[in-house]
Amino acid sequence: MANKIAANIQHRKLLALDRLQKRGIVQSNICFICGITPETHEHLFIFCEYSRRCMELMQQKLHIRFSAAYMVTWFSKNRTKSRLQRVVSGACFVGLISGIWHVRNCARLSHQVTAPMVLVNQVWKETKERLIHKNRKDA
Ligand SMILES: [Zn+2]
Repeated sequence: MANKIAANIQHRKLLALDRLQKRGIVQSNICFICGITPETHEHLFIFCEYSRRCMELMQQKLHIRFSAAYMVTWFSKNRTKSRLQRVVSGACFVGLISGIWHVRNCARLSHQVTAPMVLVNQVWKETKERLIHKNRKDA
């Protein structure tokens, strides 16, 4: 599920508010999460204060830094990391952007935003479980 959402985000298939407004479906394009800036893909997943905080927390957890280039073209290979680091950081990044999309949709419906630390801990837990499960299947 996270991979499918991430692929849709990567290919800009999700309908962020800027696109819905251009189609005349919504009147406001202000981000549901921060309520300040127009919602575009770049804003929602990279520049929104909420997303930036989530990325910071995840980077602290992983002891790595997602470079700006990594966030924009997140599957570009970074050969300075080991394969395991790339797999784990990639899986966490994909889980996080999918989680941000979920938080955005919940904010749209319920006007409540999950705390960044709660989202990051949830993504971290799910990613670890997914990787362990995948490892067991592959073994
Ligand atoms: Zn925002």
